[in-house]
Order: sequence, then structure tokens, then C-alpha cells
Amino acid sequence: MAFQGTRLEVDLDALAHNFQFLKSRIPDDTLFMSVVKANAYGHGAVTVAQKLQKLETDYFAVAYVEEAVELRNAGIVKPILTLHPQIHTLEICIDRCIEPVIYSMEMLEKFSAFAKAKSQQSYPIHLEFNTGMNRLGIDPLEIPKALELVHKNPAIKVIGLQSHLAASEDLDEKEFTLSQIKKFNDICNRIEKELGYKCLRHTDNTSGILNYDSGHYNMVRSGIGLYGYGNDKNHDVNLKPIASLISNISQISHVKKGESISYNRSYKAEKDTTYAVIALGHGDGINRIYGYGKASVHIHGKAAPTLGIICMDMFMVDVTDIPSKVGDEVIVFNLQYPASNIAEHAGTISYELLTGIQRRVPRIYLNR
Ligand SMILES: *Cc1c(COP(=O)(O)O)cnc(C)c1O
Repeated sequence: MAFQGTRLEVDLDALAHNFQFLKSRIPDDTLFMSVVKANAYGHGAVTVAQKLQKLETDYFAVAYVEEAVELRNAGIVKPILTLHPQIHTLEICIDRCIEPVIYSMEMLEKFSAFAKAKSQQSYPIHLEFNTGMNRLGIDPLEIPKALELVHKNPAIKVIGLQSHLAASEDLDEKEFTLSQIKKFNDICNRIEKELGYKCLRHTDNTSGILNYDSGHYNMVRSGIGLYGYGNDKNHDVNLKPIASLISNISQISHVKKGESISYNRSYKAEKDTTYAVIALGHGDGINRIYGYGKASVHIHGKAAPTLGIICMDMFMVDVTDIPSKVGDEVIVFNLQYPASNIAEHAGTISYELLTGIQRRVPRIYLNR
């Protein structure tokens, strides 16, 4: 077999499938915002966004202004929302036509002043309200003050209203989520009445799209679903993980019963053991939580558990019962062995595993 080295293969046809599936779950006149923050959850923001732009997503979202600038530089012309802009980068929004989520009164004052100083007219902004996530957001008690500021300054225009659901994937918290949606609805009604026009209302993330139709409104924000994960076995069957993390065996060796493997002698062999060294480590995003057998990779369709501590550039797996040789393909995750399984087994979530894959791992795009 050709020795291809460690790589993250990203199937853009699978991305298209997920995009179409998620769109089929919302009304035709509800806009779809593709969340491509954190390098499109590790898949490569530029190529993923270019594909989604071709598929005619309505909007993009990133966390930081710098991420939006990267997309603008790569020819993304659709509206881009920045979910967590920092005060020191607010002015760049105006230069690069990026819509900020304004999540505090301080930020509203600052942005309002920048827009005026740059002689803007009706520069589009979105206001975020805290309805129970208790992360970012303007306190609903501050609505009158916020609207007064908006009314006074024609340089800005509120076009969007946002909130974020805290537990949309947890159906045991249904009552809480519905109360968040109700609060958001009341806030939107109140603000739209004051403004005298309708805004883009958006609160559903992927699990919101799949579990809470009442939160669709006229725009939804989806990240993880695009990459093939629905935070629930029932939803996962309709989505296709778009990335495969593949490596090769660098070396195969043996230890005798009583000998040890890896740093701090972290694996002590209870029997004669054949181990393979895999060309991936915590420097690539395979964190130490995956050590000590908390994760398995697949070689020739068989599970090979990690042995001892994960090193920076490599880790070792048990191949005693798997006939294998140097160069053989090692699957960390793919369509068949989803990232959510390996992540959850080690006590984390697909989001963290995917976004953690480092720059050192080349991204290879299939079906561009
Ligand atoms: C990351 C993020 C999303 C996307 O969430 P998914 O669960 O990946 O769909 C939506 N909204 C906000 C505010 C976010 O930070």
C-alpha cells in the first residue's frame, strides 16, 4: 500500500449532503447561517466556506473578526456575522463589511461611535440577549437604554436579534429550552414593535434545528451538523461525518510481559505484546485524554487500543492480535467510526476532537 502519511480527508459531497438535509428540516423562507468558526471546526474554513457559498448558504458565522477577514480575503462575499467580536477589532468590521453581534452595552456604545466616525448609514448589527445560557448577551433589563442609543444614531441599524440555547441537545431540559425560546420571542416582539420593522431572529443551533421547530424563526445557525454530527444517535443517522483522520504505522515492535511502553512507564505489559507506533500525537490534537486505552484506532477493521501516555508526535497501540506491518493504514475516525464515539468514550465531545486537529495535519479535500 502507498504510504500516504497522516492526513485529514474532508469529503465535500458529504458536506453538501448535510447542508441539504439540515435545510430540509427548516421552512423554505428561513435563512441558513453556516457556522465556520475555529477553522470550520477543524475542517479548513476557506475551502469549507467556498463550498458552502457555492451551495448558496445565506449567511456565514465565525467567532472572531480575524476569522471573518480570512474569509473575505478568500473571496467569500455572503454576509458574515462575527459571534464574539472583541472591542479592539470592531473597526475592522466596518472596513471589511462584517456584521457584529453586539452582546453588551459597552460594545453597543463603542460600535455606535465607530460607525458614526466612519460616516456609516444604517450599518447592520445584531443584538444578542441572554435568555439563560448565561454566557454573552445584553440583559433584557437594558433594552430601553439600548434602543435609545440605536434610535439616536442613524449610522447603525439593528437587523438581527440573537440568543443562544444552553441545552438544545438535552431533551431532559426541554422545559428550560422552551422557556428560553419564549423569553427570546417576547424580547423580539418588544424590540420589533419599538423599531417598527421585523428583524432576523436567530437562536437555533444544530440541535435546536433538529429538536425545536419553534426556535427556527427566520434564520438558524448550524455548525456541527454541517460536519456530520447531530449530538444524538437518532439524528446522526441522517448526517454524514465529512472528515476522516487517517494515519500510518511508523514502526512495529514487541515487549515482553513486565516491560513497559511510553513515558513514565505508563503501560505495563501483562503479557507479551506487539505494539504499533502511530504518527499522531497531542501536537496534532490527539490529546492525552485518549491515552491509557481510552481510545482505539482501527487497523484492518480491528480495534487497537492506545497503550499508556500519548506523546507529542506519536502514540502506541496494541496490535498483538492484528496482523499488520509498517505503512498500514490507521483509522482514527471516519464515516464508519465517527469522531463522536471516540470522543465520548474518552469523556469529551466531537466538537473538541475536531476543532483540536492541528495545522500540522494536512487537509485533503475530496469531491471539490
Ligand atoms: C458555535 C455556535 C453555534 C453553532 O453551534 P452548533 O451546535 O455547532 O450547531 C451557534 N451559535 C453560536 C452563538 C455559537 O457560538
